[in-house]
Amino acid sequence: MVAIVTAAESEAAQRRVAGALAATGLRAGDRVALLLGPSPGLIAVVLGALRRGVIPVVLDPALPAAERAALLADCRPALTVEGPAGLDRLLAGPPADLAPAPLGRPMHYTSGTTGRRKGVWSGVLDPDAARALLDEEVELWGFDADDRHLVFSPLHHSAPLRFAMCTLLRGGTVILPGRFEPTAMLDVIARHRPTTAFCVPTQLRRLFAAADAGPGLPPLTSFRLLAHAGEPCPYPLKRRTVDAFPPASVFEFYGSTEGQFTTCSAAEWAARPGSVGRARPGRVLRVDGDGVIWCRVPAYARFSYWDDPAKTATAWRGDEFTVGDVGRLDPDGYLYLDGRRDDLVITGGVNVYPREVELVLVECPGVEEVAVFGVPDERWGQRLAAAVVGSATVESLDRYARERLTAARRPKDYYVVADLPRTTTGKVRRLDLPGHLGLTPPA
Ligand code: ATP
Repeated sequence: MVAIVTAAESEAAQRRVAGALAATGLRAGDRVALLLGPSPGLIAVVLGALRRGVIPVVLDPALPAAERAALLADCRPALTVEGPAGLDRLLAGPPADLAPAPLGRPMHYTSGTTGRRKGVWSGVLDPDAARALLDEEVELWGFDADDRHLVFSPLHHSAPLRFAMCTLLRGGTVILPGRFEPTAMLDVIARHRPTTAFCVPTQLRRLFAAADAGPGLPPLTSFRLLAHAGEPCPYPLKRRTVDAFPPASVFEFYGSTEGQFTTCSAAEWAARPGSVGRARPGRVLRVDGDGVIWCRVPAYARFSYWDDPAKTATAWRGDEFTVGDVGRLDPDGYLYLDGRRDDLVITGGVNVYPREVELVLVECPGVEEVAVFGVPDERWGQRLAAAVVGSATVESLDRYARERLTAARRPKDYYVVADLPRTTTGKVRRLDLPGHLGLTPPA
């Protein structure tokens, strides 16, 4: 079922949440853990809490029991809200006053595509810092009262929640279709005419596939902003996106749970295909001698890793931090991502980032999805392997690779599989690939 919430409805709900939280004695800096499905109520709880300085920890309600217990033990919430009954209790509080802007960021755990999940913690902000944080976001994406924002992804991920929150804080309306299902999404777009959306490229691919298999695309002219991030968008998919949506609406950014670092308009992408754009206003990017990307942020956008001073110390150097991505900057400041430091495969002494190989193979006819990873090799230390979804054969993949990739960059093993292990936002969990394929994990 599609839920729709206006700014006025959400504001009233946020006031009731603030009253309920005050009645339970929660103070600024306390955590409230939320295990709730996507709903207007969830967004109201997040905003109602943040506008009192209480930090919501937004967790996937479908987490396996062990992971959920581990994350709850990690964040030590003063209150845990779960299920419709828990939500209704908070939404029934006596209305209370709220700060104009959220006094912090919700705490999210990183996807864990490269290891242990980490809580990203902004602490409690003073009102000036809170206003600055909201204003820069509003300026970046131009949120206003005419916006009808369509939510594609679960709200326990930072970017989808941030887009929905900013829309409501600036007077707009949010459309929540629930779990992403491409055919249903086409129908929602046709009926509700959204103006803005944020998605990952995998969702775009599935949307186009559903349109091709059935009703075709609905009119997309209502969009003024279609932002995508989270994983590379291969050239053919980006081309189709820019051709299908109003070109001026299509933006890519490079970001993570820790923040949004760049923006890239469709015109910038056309001039520099493969780039993820330039540093967004207020951010400065630097690539060090090892290719690691560092981002300088204003004081109000700083964060730490919850309860993990060692990890925080590794991520920060003064006012710059890294999330471990590797890339290059061109002379005009456009960033090209090579991959993640932790994904690096060293084969016969040659450094290969799986992402560069994936971007070639995804264009091989019959390939729908591909993930490349390293496996131990007696002779070369590691060798590359590729898991492929689609109708391509091992022979056609190998032929395609031989024509386009140097020997070190060519996978030596191919696995044609039905699906790839993904996080709930649709990102490939590279670490899980060997297990998914029944291989011994790389040493
Ligand atoms: P963990 O740190 O636990 O592994 P995670 O970093 O995968 O979790 P996210 O914050 O969801 O969790 O993912 C961010 C990562 O996604 C970035 O560090 C980058 O590698 C990748 N990414 C983000 N935007 C883009 C983009 N536009 N193009 C390519 N890759 C991107």
